[in-house]
Amino acid sequence: MNNDNSITAYIGLGSNLVEPSAQIKNARQAINDLEHSQELAFSSLYSSPPMGPQDQPDYVNAVMAISTKLSPLDLLHSLQSIENEQGRVRERRWGARTLDLDILLYADEQINLADLKVPHIGLRERAFVLYPLQEIATDLTIPSLGHINDLVAQCPLDGLQKL
Ligand code: ATP
Ligand code: CA
Ligand code: CA
Repeated sequence: MNNDNSITAYIGLGSNLVEPSAQIKNARQAINDLEHSQELAFSSLYSSPPMGPQDQPDYVNAVMAISTKLSPLDLLHSLQSIENEQGRVRERRWGARTLDLDILLYADEQINLADLKVPHIGLRERAFVLYPLQEIATDLTIPSLGHINDLVAQCPLDGLQKL
């Protein structure tokens, strides 16, 4: 249950470099260590083939629900700091990375800032987001997109596997 001024946010975690499962575990701890934020739920780990460039390792993905009092932009900047601390280097689009943290949902808000689009732009097409999200939020309705069960039903697995 959230306190008065905390909201539930969902974060997508992904890694395909330098012991991906350990990267996800470290990120989970770092997110728990953020001020005014705590874990509500954490999905299983999944493996998925890369999007975009295929000459890179498979990804390990998970989705985490948190209760937070951070604003959307403060949360984004905090997650980017964690990415940087875990050695994220930005090269080509959708290239290999030690850690990617995306804000999937922030309460039931629709946010359309230059640096922050919520719900996350790729949510509808991405099995590695939708399936773990459904695992921890079985009765979720997503602003403008609908019920999680309908989104999952329309999204092929695309090679996603539970680890
Ligand atoms: P994708 O966004 O398609 O999953 P990506 O995660 O590889 O690709 P990044 O390089 O990590 O993309 O991020 C690019 C920019 O996306 C960031 O600088 C950030 O400002 C912006 N962004 C927009 N909406 C979000 C969001 N909901 N969560 C995280 N970053 C976002
Ligand atoms: Ca991403
Ligand atoms: Ca990202």
